[in-house]
Amino acid sequence: MPELPEVETVRRGLASVSVNQPISGGEVLLTRTIAHPDADEFIDRLTGNTIASWQRRGKYLYAELHRQEKSAGWLGVHLRMTGQMLWLDRQEPIHKHTRVRLLVGTTSEIRFVDQRTFGQMWWIPPDRTPSDIMTGMAKLGPEPFDRDFSIEYFTTKLSKSHRNIKTAILDQTLVAGLGNIYADECLFMSRIHPNTLASSLKPKQIKTLHQAAIEVLTTAIDRGGTSFSNYLNVEGVNGNYGGEAWVYNRALQPCRVCDTPISKIRLGGRGTHFCPHCQPE
Ligand SMILES: [Zn+2]
Repeated sequence: MPELPEVETVRRGLASVSVNQPISGGEVLLTRTIAHPDADEFIDRLTGNTIASWQRRGKYLYAELHRQEKSAGWLGVHLRMTGQMLWLDRQEPIHKHTRVRLLVGTTSEIRFVDQRTFGQMWWIPPDRTPSDIMTGMAKLGPEPFDRDFSIEYFTTKLSKSHRNIKTAILDQTLVAGLGNIYADECLFMSRIHPNTLASSLKPKQIKTLHQAAIEVLTTAIDRGGTSFSNYLNVEGVNGNYGGEAWVYNRALQPCRVCDTPISKIRLGGRGTHFCPHCQPE
């Protein structure tokens, strides 16, 4: 599943190739991919507009659309489990999991390829905001890079949490952007056992975890996302964070710090990796 760094990589990729180009048409191959409005209206609403920018909030991507220098609404996308936004030449053969084609400029297109079909797209009218229509966006907490994600904010939230720290930091209303991979990675970097009660963390541990959350996502974005999943960037190339994971997906392999075999447990229904020596209970 693409996590925040992969989605940011897709955003940057789309911004670098499609901005200031007009959408000249398109085709919906799987109608349920279009969450708003219906599939026919979706293509009509987009056609003739220019992509002015690509933005991201959590794992929601949205393009600002212009027509004759006025707002023409927004194109929203959520990749969910397996969605990919590929930038391709129109002559490229159509992959069988292609769900939506958007013709951009004169020879290229954005192809939304999605094997598991949970991905969604929206057109948001100019008199609404993206979070009005993509309602999941409104519930998101601050991202680790946001000014709102202060140590004070993080401390207050964790002090009220009766959950284990792994489950707490996966809660997107508390902090947006830490998925399963990066939650395990930043708990390792902070030397915190994932089953520690969130409200029992000491100020120093919270500070370390706060810093690790910022660091792990920044590093992953700099490297173009992970290759843990079947995620591909707009050129169809895997990211390379995968080779560098401390604990994620490394059960029984030696810890990169102390050689103790990495443990895997389930917490809140999620596979959780940690080093029992570096992250004592
Ligand atoms: Zn270790």
